Amino acid sequence: MISSNVGDENMVEENITSPKPPNSDSSQWGFETRAIHAGQEPDESTGAVTVPIHLATTYMQTSPGQHQGFEYSRTSNPTRLALEQNLANLEGAKHGIAFASGMAAEDAIAGMMRPGDHVILGIDAYGGTFRLIAKVYGERGIKWSAVDLSDLDAIAAAIGPRTRQVWVESPTNPTLAIVDIAGVVDIAHANGVDVVVDNTFATPYLQNPLSLGADVVVHSSTKYLGGHSDVVGGFIALSRDDLAERLFFVQNAVGAVPSPFDCYLLLRGIKTLGVRMDRHCQNAAAIANYLIAHDMVKCVLYPGLAEHPGYEVATRQMRGSGGMVSFIHVKGAEAASATVSATKVFKLAESLGAVESLIEQPAAMTHLSVADSPLAVSEGLVRLSVGIESVDDLLDDLKQALDS
Ligand code: PLP
Repeated sequence: MISSNVGDENMVEENITSPKPPNSDSSQWGFETRAIHAGQEPDESTGAVTVPIHLATTYMQTSPGQHQGFEYSRTSNPTRLALEQNLANLEGAKHGIAFASGMAAEDAIAGMMRPGDHVILGIDAYGGTFRLIAKVYGERGIKWSAVDLSDLDAIAAAIGPRTRQVWVESPTNPTLAIVDIAGVVDIAHANGVDVVVDNTFATPYLQNPLSLGADVVVHSSTKYLGGHSDVVGGFIALSRDDLAERLFFVQNAVGAVPSPFDCYLLLRGIKTLGVRMDRHCQNAAAIANYLIAHDMVKCVLYPGLAEHPGYEVATRQMRGSGGMVSFIHVKGAEAASATVSATKVFKLAESLGAVESLIEQPAAMTHLSVADSPLAVSEGLVRLSVGIESVDDLLDDLKQALDS
């Protein structure tokens, strides 16, 4: 029995700490084994080998405050706990905190700043991140700067007395720039600034920012972690107890938690993350190499190409180049729009990271919210989320769309 004061639906508690038991010790296992088993012991009462979807919102107590670790499902839920332990394990983190979306997770992190504090974003931060910081937190007195994070001197120059956080994406969305995470950490920590890394594009299979010194890892688990375009989710992984205490408090106090069914879908998706990522990387590399030779393509942005400016850093900090490829159409915005509308296997849609291939024009779709800002992207840019279909079908599809 565990006794805790983590709160039922009516409680208002300060200093809430996680009731969650530590991760099971599976550190000796390889990634794929941990992806399938970490945090997921067979159900004790039935022997079921997959984690059940625990729908109960409340849990019986034997006397007030005496329970088995769960009391109210917003505060803690067994299916969510399995997901939190599993993903924390894959990120090499002490704590995992699941949210209802990537933006809800980001909101919890940004919410740790106070009016007058300053945050540094990358010049090609995800549009939704920019919108959250500039248009929600900006109104609450948070200052921000957009900096080329591949330029470490520029980061040092942007840090001021009230700078609290640097938010890194690597690879970035949608231009697939690479940021030297350990280099940013050195500069930030020397100035008492925390480093937040959005690891959505790389996933823990290809990159572990905490091992490079980052303080907080955030995910849109809607993407590769779920992997099947059927669940929206967010996740924070970290090892610092001070930040984790606050973030667990916010998770419960604000209540932007994923449903048990969403947690189950994520657990199921993560079991195949390794094999999916291997195929995403293979297909993406073949497509990048095809596009680079196409005369309708001005340039290809893919960190696995030796001519990519971030190639060396990517080789050092990643275990593969990922499944995202962007390119700029030689003929600009209208031609890019025609190309993304002409593919058949690649579906014209926002989002990324799932088994099916997707294509989009960021300036008109995912990154519309950063038009007229320092983060605006080229109108001729096309972003591909390369799926795990037969690569010849993907190449044929791009060929007919670019040639038409
Ligand atoms: N971070 C990145 C890099 C993203 O691409 C996205 C969404 O596209 C988000 C965060 C936000 O995640 P969600 O859509 O799950 O709220």
